[in-house]
Amino acid sequence: METTGRIFNIARFSLHDGPGIRTVVFLKGCPLACAWCHNPEGMGAAAEAFFRPDRCVGCGRCAAACPRISAGDDAAAGAAAAMAVGAAEMPQAAGTPHVAPFPDGDCPPGCQACAAACPVGAREAVGAPWGVDALLSEALADRAFYESSGGGVTLSGGEPLAQPDFSASFLAACGAAGLHRAVETSGFASEEAFGLVAGQADLLLFDVKLLDPDAHRAWTGADLAPILRNLRSAAAAGIPVIIRRPLIPGVNDGEAEMTVLADLAAGLGLGVDLLPYHGDAEDKYRKRRMPYRLAGAKAPEAEAVARCESMLTGRGVRVRIGG
Ligand code: SF4
Ligand code: SF4
Repeated sequence: METTGRIFNIARFSLHDGPGIRTVVFLKGCPLACAWCHNPEGMGAAAEAFFRPDRCVGCGRCAAACPRISAGDDAAAGAAAAMAVGAAEMPQAAGTPHVAPFPDGDCPPGCQACAAACPVGAREAVGAPWGVDALLSEALADRAFYESSGGGVTLSGGEPLAQPDFSASFLAACGAAGLHRAVETSGFASEEAFGLVAGQADLLLFDVKLLDPDAHRAWTGADLAPILRNLRSAAAAGIPVIIRRPLIPGVNDGEAEMTVLADLAAGLGLGVDLLPYHGDAEDKYRKRRMPYRLAGAKAPEAEAVARCESMLTGRGVRVRIGG
């Protein structure tokens, strides 16, 4: 039986996820819960349905499909809540039913009945099964662009290591088709799962978010040890690796963090991409009624980024800003 993966987005013509023009495949589900995650829709492993208030026309079909969604007068509070999450322009005509933007209680894993009922995509289905062959066909559609730019395919997420059999099978198929393969990863996985996926990659874009073990656990919810073990094993195996450090002001851009990061990268002979924080994802959290721990956080000042860069380059580490 063909291995299938759960995927929540496929982005074509990306220029920021490895060399050249790339197709980026976002796998659903991640064992970490980073406070600054830019893809909260990719955190959960199961398929989900999210509300897009800007698209809703108030037809009420989702409420008819699901007892958890209030409609009509009962949804007055829901309409107010929709405005609170940024749906002030909710285009519901007079006389049409209003619906509550969020269901009453938790949804069963995998349920997308409201999304199937919605005629305008306002109940957005996030996470769909894909087989290796179908996904490869999708990726091959842009082969000419990869060849002209030195690009290829990138697995991202979520976390590709959380679906190791599918990730490895897809990467193997890409390799057989002559496509360059990159993997964006937190590195958090068992040795076995990491080896399976990393062994099929031409490049690992390896996040090292924090090097203080306690801070790492506090900000990501995960242990640092398996990440460092896997990073070292990839470097020892000669797999091309670029360390990526999202720069979160006041969290991981201090002198102590940069010193340890510089020592790690220099010791392994690896370059570092510094990815300055931006708050673009905050709206995603608001619209999904998810807590955002970095609410109101600002992007780092240019001087702060330059300071981090010089601390790394001063120890002989190659650095790119933005990757
Ligand atoms: S995902 Fe399922 S349970 Fe949740 S609101 Fe939609 S139909 Fe109802
Ligand atoms: S089915 Fe879609 S458009 Fe109709 S009320 Fe529900 S979310 Fe809005």
